[in-house]
Amino acid sequence: MGLFSAKSKPKKTSALASSLQSEKIKSDIILSAIDDCVVYIDTSGVIYLFNPAASKLTGWLSGEAIGVDYRSVITLIDEKGVPIANDLHPFTVVLMQKTPIRSDNAIIKNRNGASISIDMTVSPLFDANEQLQGAVSVIRDVTEQRRAEKQRAEFISTASHEMRTPVAAIEGYLALALNDKVSKIDDKARSFLTKAHESTQHLGKLFQDLLTSAKAEDGRLTSHPIAVEMSEFVEKLTQDLKFVAEKKNLQLECTIGSPSGFTDASKVIKPLYYVQADPDRLREVITNLFDNAVKYTETGKITISLSGDDKVVQFRIRDTGPGIPIEDQPHLFQKFYRVDNSATRTIGGTGLGLFITKKIIELYSGRIWVESTPGLGSTFIINLPRITSERARQLQKEEDSRPAGSVYTQNTAPSNTGVIQ
Ligand code: ADP
Repeated sequence: MGLFSAKSKPKKTSALASSLQSEKIKSDIILSAIDDCVVYIDTSGVIYLFNPAASKLTGWLSGEAIGVDYRSVITLIDEKGVPIANDLHPFTVVLMQKTPIRSDNAIIKNRNGASISIDMTVSPLFDANEQLQGAVSVIRDVTEQRRAEKQRAEFISTASHEMRTPVAAIEGYLALALNDKVSKIDDKARSFLTKAHESTQHLGKLFQDLLTSAKAEDGRLTSHPIAVEMSEFVEKLTQDLKFVAEKKNLQLECTIGSPSGFTDASKVIKPLYYVQADPDRLREVITNLFDNAVKYTETGKITISLSGDDKVVQFRIRDTGPGIPIEDQPHLFQKFYRVDNSATRTIGGTGLGLFITKKIIELYSGRIWVESTPGLGSTFIINLPRITSERARQLQKEEDSRPAGSVYTQNTAPSNTGVIQ
């Protein structure tokens, strides 16, 4: 018996060892065949697994990378080439938060100094007792994809720019044909030409929006940020917009600060809400939101309000329109997204307005979101970083000493302007 067991034990062990070995060979084959990089780190940040694709991307052989801290091997940089802070590295975030994250616009700097655009997913790994064991990352080289996207954006940009000019000419001639003082047409022709004129206007707006969104996407949106006092700015703009609302029998109300408790509005001291932004871009944003509020609201009121604390200036625009279904709300700011309902089927639009609006707000480190209950209207809210009156005066001085006619794009704005460059 003793002899039997003494003989059988090594047999069992060797069977287990060979089965493990064959499992390892299988997983090695799989990991080698995968085009995406697979990197596994333990909880102390040491690399444990590094497949051949990871070697190809980073320039580190797997024998060199294994046992090394991930920060030395997976070096991430921003668009300007500045290394990403340690606590923002996806691996660090996942080890801290223990939840998966995806970064689809990261850039890795490889061992040869080349910058490669990557899409990186990192997931935490737990053992059977829910104890964190490490994190695994799948990294994909998306350089080609980004290049194709850039080319596509350039094509859209050029095409819409070229097409805007003839469309503007057609629109102009149609307007002349519809002008009683210039031409005589019968009612039937007038009805056809009116329809053609409306469609041409829609086309012109589409080209303009396409051009703006292509520019916003690749950082060519012109922006000349200065100190803007929002109370005065919003009040003036509301005066201009009032007529548009009245045309549709909608009320327009504007509240600056929180005048609750005051009966005499003239005695309310209006706070100075300074932000740093391009006033033309801010006008575009507010007009866009206002146009939507008017467009989608049949009866009732549009309320514009401005408030803030020492860090943030908050702009809100509320309407009494149909509201937006909960399931559509997360997608509203995506390109070409339109809620599919009877209103959008009859009311014209490009689905680009809110996309552009969000891009502009992000240019000034702001945030935009919507709060809406279907049937009870919608509120679009914007938070912009507030600057002090002192900083506003300093910016004004700098502005006054700047040569006239300077034009900035997202990529050329001076670094002290606080815009994303
Ligand atoms: P569009 O040109 O279609 O208005 P936007 O990007 O401005 O494009 O808006 C996207 C979609 O969001 C619209 O098609 C509409 O369905 C919805 N939407 C935007 N603003 C409102 C609003 N104030 N009330 C109801 N729906 C709105």
